[in-house]
Amino acid sequence: MKDCLFCKIIGGEIPSNKVYEDDMVYAFYDIEPQAPEHILIIPKKHFESIMDVTGKDFEYVDKMMQAAQKLAKEKGFEKDGFRLVFNTGRDGGQTVAHLHMHLLGGRSLQWPPG
Ligand code: 5GP
Ligand code: ZN
Repeated sequence: MKDCLFCKIIGGEIPSNKVYEDDMVYAFYDIEPQAPEHILIIPKKHFESIMDVTGKDFEYVDKMMQAAQKLAKEKGFEKDGFRLVFNTGRDGGQTVAHLHMHLLGGRSLQWPPG
């Protein structure tokens, strides 16, 4: 989608530090890391949030989860754990209107969130 930051990252128009890519998913390091490892996993198709995904397009979400599991294994988070987050809408603290999942790991994370 035109004027979408993450669509521009997928298209290479804006540079990013890629950690994973397949036909449906792109993953890269967050520019403002909140943990020693902070990765964003995004679908290559533009959805504003999880609320805009329907029907067959849930395959993108499936692939995002598969990428998260693969990356968590690669980063060695299986034993100590990690966190997956979808900030959604205003109250959820979503700042970029292209569906994304945060993968946070490498330290003990607090709960509940602020
Ligand atoms: P949200 O707040 O919408 O859940 O997450 C958006 C995330 O995108 C934030 O953690 C923010 O640091 C990250 N971000 C914003 N702009 C850029 C950018 O240009 N490059 C990268 N790698 N991350 C970005
Ligand atoms: Zn987009």
